[in-house]
Amino acid sequence: MFQPSTDIKYLQGVGPARAELLGKEIGIKTMGDMLCYYPYRYVDRSTIYRICDIDGNMPYVQLCGQITQMEEIGEGHHKRIVGRFSDGTGWIELVWFQGLKFVSKAYKVRTPYLIFGKPTVFNSRLQINHPEIETMENADPLRPDGHLPLYGEDAIQQALPPHRGGGVGRGSASFRPYYHTTDRMKKQFLASATIAKLMANLFNLINETLPETLPESIINEYHLMAYDTAIRQIHFPTTTDNLRRAQARLKFDELFYIQLNILRYAKNRRENTNGYIFNTVGEAFNTFYYHHLPFELTAAQKRVVKEIREDMRAGRQMNRLLQGDVGSGKTLVALLCSLIAIDNGYQTVIMAPTEILAEQHLETIRNFLGDMPLRVELLTGSVKGKRRREILQSLLDGTTHILVGTHAVIEDGVQFQRLGFAVIDEQHRFGVAQRAKLWKKNEQTLSPALPRNGEGEPAGWPPPHYGGGARKGGEGPVSPHILVMTATPIPRTLAMTLYGDLDVSIIDELPPGRKPIKTIHQFLSHLDRIHASMRRELQLGHQVYVVYPLIQETEKLDLQDLEKGYADICDAFPEYKVSRVHGKLKPAEKDREMEAFASGKTQILVATTVIEVGVNVPNASVMVIMNAERFGLSQLHQLRGRVGRGAEQSFCVLVTNYKISDTTRRRIQIMVDSTDGFEIAEEDLKLRGPGDLEGTQQSGIAFDLKIANLARDGQILTYARAAAQRLLDNDPEENLPQYQIAWQRLNALRETNVNWGAIS
Ligand code: ADP
Ligand code: MG
Repeated sequence: MFQPSTDIKYLQGVGPARAELLGKEIGIKTMGDMLCYYPYRYVDRSTIYRICDIDGNMPYVQLCGQITQMEEIGEGHHKRIVGRFSDGTGWIELVWFQGLKFVSKAYKVRTPYLIFGKPTVFNSRLQINHPEIETMENADPLRPDGHLPLYGEDAIQQALPPHRGGGVGRGSASFRPYYHTTDRMKKQFLASATIAKLMANLFNLINETLPETLPESIINEYHLMAYDTAIRQIHFPTTTDNLRRAQARLKFDELFYIQLNILRYAKNRRENTNGYIFNTVGEAFNTFYYHHLPFELTAAQKRVVKEIREDMRAGRQMNRLLQGDVGSGKTLVALLCSLIAIDNGYQTVIMAPTEILAEQHLETIRNFLGDMPLRVELLTGSVKGKRRREILQSLLDGTTHILVGTHAVIEDGVQFQRLGFAVIDEQHRFGVAQRAKLWKKNEQTLSPALPRNGEGEPAGWPPPHYGGGARKGGEGPVSPHILVMTATPIPRTLAMTLYGDLDVSIIDELPPGRKPIKTIHQFLSHLDRIHASMRRELQLGHQVYVVYPLIQETEKLDLQDLEKGYADICDAFPEYKVSRVHGKLKPAEKDREMEAFASGKTQILVATTVIEVGVNVPNASVMVIMNAERFGLSQLHQLRGRVGRGAEQSFCVLVTNYKISDTTRRRIQIMVDSTDGFEIAEEDLKLRGPGDLEGTQQSGIAFDLKIANLARDGQILTYARAAAQRLLDNDPEENLPQYQIAWQRLNALRETNVNWGAIS
């Protein structure tokens, strides 16, 4: 009987050395791991083309013939080997630029070879660069003229619908799987073809039907291929249709369990965590709303405040994601909801990712509140000594109503008297696992130090003119309501995976009177034009950002670019003052420079991406982004959002090198054409794939996907999520026999997948 947990070293053809390599390089430790190492591409090798029939537009082709001559030409970097390959119907050039020593030794003239590659036309001659070459004896065992394949053909035959194709070896398509390998593996002769052979050995070993991984009802409802068939077909497909169905089945499988995990987690949290009940909308909210609010809320802001308010009085802990484009007015929503918490006798904390942002929030909120009798304090890493002690005390005795700060607010030792509401701003760098940690931390350090269900109500609380809050009775911890705010518009599919456990509110409207930012693409060589755009706005009394990429703060080149740019700008604009901010500066220096720009003492800010999140300088009207090709689209969108905050027309200049790839050109064009963050994020996901998308790197989840692709498999994800939700609804106790398959598998997956386990 096949045991997936068997060490891979016992597979025929592996052994201890290769086992170590497989484990270290691609994480294959067991036979089960190996089964789930899927090919990334397939090539139909059933057809051998005649050279006279091929042209430069064809995809990969397979040819059979001989090399008639081979020579090394060129010098130095241009040295290459060119061979002439002929099959009697014509000839084609084979070209190698690398590994010349190996090539000249390995391939002989006048020997029959199967070659394989993508034909191109160069100097009106047909060529294949770096073809794959096989001698005829080594030819693929899966080829129609070869022997029967080594894997469980019978099983596949059985799975095929009747009268459908003959299966491998009898004239149907014969696909060869291609597996990702690493350089180290290739050096040790563990290339894709070897993996395919090992895979065939593995299937040879499995004499039984692999057990199903999904409940029968789900398989029937979604017409899924059986697991056993799918896993065989994914490695050695017999028809394109089977391959497609196998992929769909395995993608569904993968997404289903991710969703089941997230949804079950959210359900448990809902059931086991009580929430404070905020029944009152009282004096703090009303005073602010009717007497201090300087403008009308947008319809979207009103809707979102209402959604949050409903949530906060439902008797369960709120966990809500607030998505809203840059400048859509999320801070105000956070403030309004804080006031509801205060009206119910609770404190609020608002967390920002940087000190500068925290300070800005503090200032904004104090300005908004004006003379209202509410205490708003700032707590960051740089608040120390006596000041810090005072603030900590004020949190404990309840005299501070709103605490604004950085991560410093969740450190041990920060205790609140009655924390009821926590806002996490711009937290798009946090995935589920990270947030979960944060919440746990909340429960330990942020949970109310004192009153529980009315007992021990401290004197002096609630403040005389604000009402008291209630808490839903019952056992279990009470966590503050949590609002995560993000300006990074997350495409739906990704949001379902990363934030699948959160309720979502969306502000899809900007405050009135904003003019869409005009975006222009310029080449670096046109410095004069770039400077002209800047000068025009500077002369109108506006301010200008110039941003340089800084992927790694240690990259010397980036800093040099920035210093040179700074010097250029000082030269070009002697009549204006220029600030400069980068990651190498001490925090105090950084703050001083930022402050000079924010207060208008300097007119131009040359900076790296430290300014990316949240800085608010309404008088700035131009954002120049150097080396724009090195930024992600969402990042460009964020940066662009730094301007266009006042009533004036604002501009964004994307500066790139003259030579850019087609993809870069398309990306820049999307930015020029669109100011809609969601549209941009969708495009970004399509162009780059989820692994690259900002916000997903640390989440782990997008990376762990073995076969599903969040950019392309949105439909399957939707089905998988619905199926997972229905399972939870149908079997809330997790004890119905027909669903045991799913619960057992979920628990097994949670054990082997670090990121999943961290969720709860
Ligand atoms: P973000 O969603 O990017 O955090 P902010 O909260 O910083 O946006 O708001 C951007 C600007 O818009 C601020 O200056 C804020 O005062 C202003 N603002 C917010 N809501 C409105 C509104 N309803 N009408 C007009 N201006 C608004
Ligand atoms: Mg903001």
